[in-house]
Amino acid sequence: MTMGSERARSTLAYLRRHISTGAWPVGSRIPIEPELAEQIGVGRSTVREAVRSLASIGMLETLPGRGTFVRSSAPTSTLLNEFLNDFTLEEILSYRRALEIEAAQQAALHRSDEDLVALERAALEEKGCTRCPVLLNGSESSAFDSTFHRLLFDAAKNRLLASLYAGTNDQLRTPAHRGRLANVATASEMERDHARVLDAIRRRDFIDAVHSMADHVDHDVVIVNDRQEVVPALVRTPEQQQRINTAREADELRAATR
Ligand SMILES: [Zn+2]
Repeated sequence: MTMGSERARSTLAYLRRHISTGAWPVGSRIPIEPELAEQIGVGRSTVREAVRSLASIGMLETLPGRGTFVRSSAPTSTLLNEFLNDFTLEEILSYRRALEIEAAQQAALHRSDEDLVALERAALEEKGCTRCPVLLNGSESSAFDSTFHRLLFDAAKNRLLASLYAGTNDQLRTPAHRGRLANVATASEMERDHARVLDAIRRRDFIDAVHSMADHVDHDVVIVNDRQEVVPALVRTPEQQQRINTAREADELRAATR
């Protein structure tokens, strides 16, 4: 074994140990590259390589300009993805919907002031929502990279939810599902949806948070069939849709008059 690969191995082990023991909890930011290089006694490029490899299995995520964050205490993309392989895309999306809604509820209950500031900033940065959970045909980089959604899971303060969400998004990036998902909401719809979710979380109104997120996930990611037609995930009666529209209008009115 060369010295290089031994250093790479021990660097990887160092990072994994800090993550799996909870020394760096899920959602936390890990020390910056030069600091880690100093602590471990290796070069910066070795650290960078190890971070990249943990990011590829869903344990870390690097956000440009913000740092590297712990996303999962276990390699979700291997464990969970193997498990999810047995389920249909419809089943996985439905499960993902449940995670999003529960995270919105928990975020309304448990968010800190810092969480709120981070969410507000992310919503502003993602105005037009080009990075909302969108998986456009042929596009890989923009898929499921919404910081707003990720921060919601951080604000929920539930490590299991956050890990499962990261793993589920990883699964949706796999070749089996690529090109079968689309985003049907317009940028202004996305913006309005996020504003509603954010407003509910700001007011710590967990019921509104649940309803606004349920409404949002119904059209943020949809399945397209072989003929590139949208497969409706949730078919509602006109009466049910009317109730949703009425609730939304009441929300918008309240937000406008606040
Ligand atoms: Zn969204």
